[in-house]
Amino acid sequence: MSSAAPSRSATPPPVPSSPREAPTQVLSGPVSVCIDRPLLALDRPFTYDLPRELGAGIGSAVQVSFHGRATRAWVLGATEDVPERILGVRKLVSAVRYFDERSLTLYRAMSERYVAPLATVIGRAVPPRVASEELERRSPQSRASDRPAPGPSPVAGYREGRRLLDALRAGEGAFVVRPAPADEAGVAVACVGATLAAGRTAIVIVPDADPVPATAAAIVDAFGDDVALFLGGDKRARYRTWLEIVAGRYRVVVGTRPAVFAPLVDLGLLYVHREGHPQHRDERSPSYHVRDIARMRARIEGAVSVLGAFCPSLEATAREHVLVEPAGRPWAPVEVVRPGPEGRSPRLLRALRTATRAFMLEPLRGYGVARVCRSCGEPAACSACLGMLRLERGSIRCVVCEAPGRCASCGATDFGIARRGAERVEEWARGVATVPVSLIGRDDPPRAPLEGEIVVGGVDALKDVGAPGLDLVAILHADASLRRPGVDARERVLVTWFEAAAWARPDGRVIVQTEGPNDPAIQALVSGRPERFRRAEAPRRAEAGFAVGSPVFRVAGGAELERELAALAPRTLLASSVGGATICLVVLDEDRVPGFGAEMRRLAAAGIVTRVEAEPHL
Ligand SMILES: [Zn+2]
Ligand SMILES: [Zn+2]
Repeated sequence: MSSAAPSRSATPPPVPSSPREAPTQVLSGPVSVCIDRPLLALDRPFTYDLPRELGAGIGSAVQVSFHGRATRAWVLGATEDVPERILGVRKLVSAVRYFDERSLTLYRAMSERYVAPLATVIGRAVPPRVASEELERRSPQSRASDRPAPGPSPVAGYREGRRLLDALRAGEGAFVVRPAPADEAGVAVACVGATLAAGRTAIVIVPDADPVPATAAAIVDAFGDDVALFLGGDKRARYRTWLEIVAGRYRVVVGTRPAVFAPLVDLGLLYVHREGHPQHRDERSPSYHVRDIARMRARIEGAVSVLGAFCPSLEATAREHVLVEPAGRPWAPVEVVRPGPEGRSPRLLRALRTATRAFMLEPLRGYGVARVCRSCGEPAACSACLGMLRLERGSIRCVVCEAPGRCASCGATDFGIARRGAERVEEWARGVATVPVSLIGRDDPPRAPLEGEIVVGGVDALKDVGAPGLDLVAILHADASLRRPGVDARERVLVTWFEAAAWARPDGRVIVQTEGPNDPAIQALVSGRPERFRRAEAPRRAEAGFAVGSPVFRVAGGAELERELAALAPRTLLASSVGGATICLVVLDEDRVPGFGAEMRRLAAAGIVTRVEAEPHL
């Protein structure tokens, strides 16, 4: 045991009281390492002898010999768990320390919660290395901003707003913020400002990189050189920015999902912008959701987590939190009307005639769908796959396989069309409106309607473009949206409706067309109070076997899998066989996850479990 690490043990070291304490502490002697092989069966530390002259320590990338092969590994810390025979670390891969003890605490918590190899978690948390970028590293410098502090905070007037600002000044805690539409960026700026004023650093995570969300742009405007934009960019640019963050160059990091791991010290705030957005979930293992990692990291580092959304998700509100929201109603009134033919209710037509700046949310694409073949009279279906045929931009194609539209019965290409979709809405709205009408398609850059313009668009058009303050927002085909399959499909629809409604100015109008005015989702939109929807939705999910907040796993493996999983007595267990493989859906109480994970690692080593996926799409 070396003098540099006199009192470490095999158990994980305690979280240091001050972050990045001795960040370049050099270890020598037996160290535990994480082999960079993302396999559950190998997901345990291995011990190697670390030569002092390598100058390595916690977070170093090194090369070791593993099963006879040169393999990359991460140094986790000194260990007293020393086997009889111990190999030496071969070499240091990089002088960069990729993580510290606090980050490692987070990675271990994620590895446990998502039943994912620690190597996989580290691989997501640190960017791919670009060696040549390490040659010209800038010297560490912490800049204090000489910009004026941002103006008065909108948060101060919110319910529980003072409590949030107090926590940002000194403490920690979990908050959910529902900003007024006009305050969305301002609330984020205020939270970051309060954090910086307290001498701490802040991370803001946004769902998209392109176009840059208005909230991200507002933070750059407010804090300038203090802000690292960790958004998009190529591998080299991202690695350079990350190295600068490590070097202490920035006090604020704004970025997409990976920014939640940004190596800032003295972290005071993790702010998740539009927390319900699907882009906040990583589709790859460990398939984490940013809102959960933000809360985990805030707890570990004694920071504040803020989940921001116009309509907070069930997941965000199922855990203990303080809700911060405007004292009054900052939303435009919402009118509910029956759709009328082709979604043209008389009330909407009247509103369109006088609107000078409006948005019409039409979730369906194209001009219509083929109903019947004009040659043989059979119902229309794709000749290649029997899929539905859609008329879009003048041509008919299969929505499933994209083949040109041919009748499955006779091969003809002439169909009777049922008109519905954004192109058709654009067409009839043109005949009604007194200002130009444009369509924003899936491939067009999202933007707010201009002054003197009506825009028709789908859910993809609803980005954070600032609060455009429209006269009118119309929500079409609400009922079809609510009928989409998926456990959380209804909630996702409601989130997008709130985002659409937020485009209207408070004295503007929102018209939603539905046959079901009493649906809890419609009622939530009308009242502006998402909790009405959540009260109806939570029991529905529990009844389906997927209670909100209960971890879900999809496990693949051999024939014995179902019996092994049943022995763990999960809340819900659904099994199916595909070919020779067994696939199981497992729902657990949260406190059972560590035991479940240990069992999965054992079964992986025994060859019974081949794959574990946390929080699969349902
Ligand atoms: Zn036909
Ligand atoms: Zn097809």
